[in-house]
Amino acid sequence: MSTQFRKHSNTNTQQRPKQPRRQHPGRNNGPTKLEIIPLGGFSEVGRNSVAIRCEDEIVILDLGLMMDRYIEYTDSDDLVEISGRKLIEIGAAPDVNILGKEKKNVVGILLTHAHLDHIGAVPYLANRFDCDIHATPFTTELVRRMYEDERRHPRGRLVAHDVNDRFVLTDKIQAEFISVTHSTPQTVMILIHTPYGKVLYCNDFKLDNNPTLGPKPNYARLRELAGTVDYLILDTLYAEHPIKTPSEKIAEEMLKDVLLGTQSKGAKIIITTFSSHIARLRAIVNVAKMMKRKPVFLGRSLRKYVEAAQDVGIADFSDVEIVGYGNKVKPYLKRIKNPERYLFVATGNQGEPKATLARIVNQRLLPLTDNDIVIFSCKMIPVPVTIENRKRLENELQAQHVRIFTDIHVSGHGAREDHRDLLNTLKPKHIIPTHAEMKGLGAFKELALEVGYKPEQIRIVRNGERVRVK
Ligand SMILES: [Zn+2]
Repeated sequence: MSTQFRKHSNTNTQQRPKQPRRQHPGRNNGPTKLEIIPLGGFSEVGRNSVAIRCEDEIVILDLGLMMDRYIEYTDSDDLVEISGRKLIEIGAAPDVNILGKEKKNVVGILLTHAHLDHIGAVPYLANRFDCDIHATPFTTELVRRMYEDERRHPRGRLVAHDVNDRFVLTDKIQAEFISVTHSTPQTVMILIHTPYGKVLYCNDFKLDNNPTLGPKPNYARLRELAGTVDYLILDTLYAEHPIKTPSEKIAEEMLKDVLLGTQSKGAKIIITTFSSHIARLRAIVNVAKMMKRKPVFLGRSLRKYVEAAQDVGIADFSDVEIVGYGNKVKPYLKRIKNPERYLFVATGNQGEPKATLARIVNQRLLPLTDNDIVIFSCKMIPVPVTIENRKRLENELQAQHVRIFTDIHVSGHGAREDHRDLLNTLKPKHIIPTHAEMKGLGAFKELALEVGYKPEQIRIVRNGERVRVK
């Protein structure tokens, strides 16, 4: 539509576009049949969760933690004993109380991927609902292990569905897992089919056309859905970045560049990255082999994610030695005679004081000296607690004269040009940007307007602010 035509139609009352429906007492359009209920992560970053209500049935998509608030409160990046009520109170978990009496109507909890800001609150909150938990095999396996760690049991069943499966939840609601790329395996967009319309939840995502593990995004299905999705709920974390997020293939090359292209002979090398980033971990192991070094993974969460990946058959780490218990790391490193023949991967990429990397450095579990190497294959999450932790760790590394390489990484979140491609392919009727603060949401809105959307088609909402679809 040309600008001129749009201008004209806006001044003509008969052709004026319909205003979004609101529920005014006395003049609404009947009872709401389908609505979106934001529970967490809207106009903020973290504790992702949204409920979709179709008449008297509700599905919850994701139940994540706000990791910085969680870590600040628990002083740990691992899951610890704490009540769901307390987590909600400190704003570390989605506010499921928003559902009030409707909580008995929840017919399923569906999870997009295995990151804690999407599934971390499951062991604390899912048992408030009498329903099953649905996810891809890798995510399901992680959730099972989280319950085990917490010595809790899910009230309903944990049900695994393959990527690109469509399944029936009730007579009215069906769900479809659409394969997409991100920084952990088997990430999906969740499409909710109802008699009153379709809602697509795409949180998180990137459009990686050269993924190093798993399939490309399911573009064919997105093209099929063009113009049919009533609401797209979209991860807009990097909407401000005017780029296309580079492929994971690039991160692999960056790792090779640093590891094979610097003078590392005789040096001790430690790499830290996200434990859930199975593709990255596999790339590190492959480079270790090129360097004729023995790969060793140190830390509990590395063991958890790697074993889950092996159990569901998406990656093989049988060529890696894993020291998965915190108290085993010290004696293991003590026994090693030639540490320069190893490549160590340790947990604690955000400088968490209790994680393996900080312990190795601060307690000199592996004495580091001039020319030894520490690589951060990650991005620092820019929140005060992390900035402080990383600063302390890097200062200590510098005091030990260690060579530090940071940001050997590409993101798992799409940026502005990925958003543009997604909108042009899918052509959703309305969009709710999420997983960002106001600045990012505003940047996304600008892009959507540029693509041709009207302001009323883009809904920026906060937690608890219900959006009527039909
Ligand atoms: Zn994620």
